[in-house]
Amino acid sequence: MPANFLSTLTGSFAMPAAENPTVAMVEAAYRHHGLNWRYINCEVSPKLLADAVRGAWAMGWAGFNCSIPHKVAVIQHLDGLGESAGIIGAVNTVVRRGNGFIGENTDGKGFVHALREVIDPEGKSVMIFGAGGAARAVSVELALAGARSIILVNRSQETGRALVNLLNSRTGTSAEFHPWDRTVKVPPETEIVINATSIGLYPDIDGRLDLDLGSLTPAMVVADGIHNPPRTHLIRSAEARGCRVVDGLGMLVNQGVIGIKYWTGVDVDAGVMRRTLAEIFQT
Ligand code: NDP
Repeated sequence: MPANFLSTLTGSFAMPAAENPTVAMVEAAYRHHGLNWRYINCEVSPKLLADAVRGAWAMGWAGFNCSIPHKVAVIQHLDGLGESAGIIGAVNTVVRRGNGFIGENTDGKGFVHALREVIDPEGKSVMIFGAGGAARAVSVELALAGARSIILVNRSQETGRALVNLLNSRTGTSAEFHPWDRTVKVPPETEIVINATSIGLYPDIDGRLDLDLGSLTPAMVVADGIHNPPRTHLIRSAEARGCRVVDGLGMLVNQGVIGIKYWTGVDVDAGVMRRTLAEIFQT
């Protein structure tokens, strides 16, 4: 059955479809698998979000992605939430299930999926830099995947402490806040180190975390949520110190793989999607 997806993008995030990496990535998977589906990019202003969701429902769309600034606002227009989306309080993927649109958050799920190719987070001690939307999604999903402990490092204490409280009250992990007011040393017992800040994102590709790189050891896995460019300063530095690394392309590709599975029921080839993105971001 042919179907459409709505990708809600606004303002500076809006790009012609051919240049939008997510559109290119998802459509590449559809072509590869001969799926008669379409993923299109629509710019929706915040005041028309309710109309857009109703329109998607009326037109029989199987679902849609939403990006900033709709990730929280869309919830009031949906019929239910998946477990992690309910805890995170943000939705990036909407799925038609039965008689309603259900909100999911695949950012953190995509991250954990990519991480699992290198290390299973269950029972591990984790240090996460950042407390924004990406950190929220990643930390909740890691906690639900059984991470033993999470040290959350953030510049703004208020957001950092709020996320730590959320993790401690709504998940089984043991979370602790660490203020980021000086160079941070990663404790030697840490097994997974994650950058979930926007530091290093294009065009500020020389952005560096205020982190003592000498505290990274080869026993640690270092992951970065930044996908453009995929080989961030952190990823290159961690590799040079013998760490195993997970770049941000894995998170982006896998959130797409999970979204397509929700919508179409098909497990698509992540490699095709990753190669499409790698060409766009010229890794
Ligand atoms: P937010 O704006 O919600 O959060 C940004 C975070 O980065 C905050 O914790 C902020 O700290 C911190 N930060 C920014 N600049 C600095 C700085 N100079 N020094 C210290 N901390 C800083 O953004 P998101 O969480 O939504 O996104 C973060 C990144 O994650 C994006 O750049 C995006 O590329 C990536 N992302 C990747 C995805 C993927 O699929 N690979 C999916 C979603 C996001 P403070 O609270 O103090 O301001």
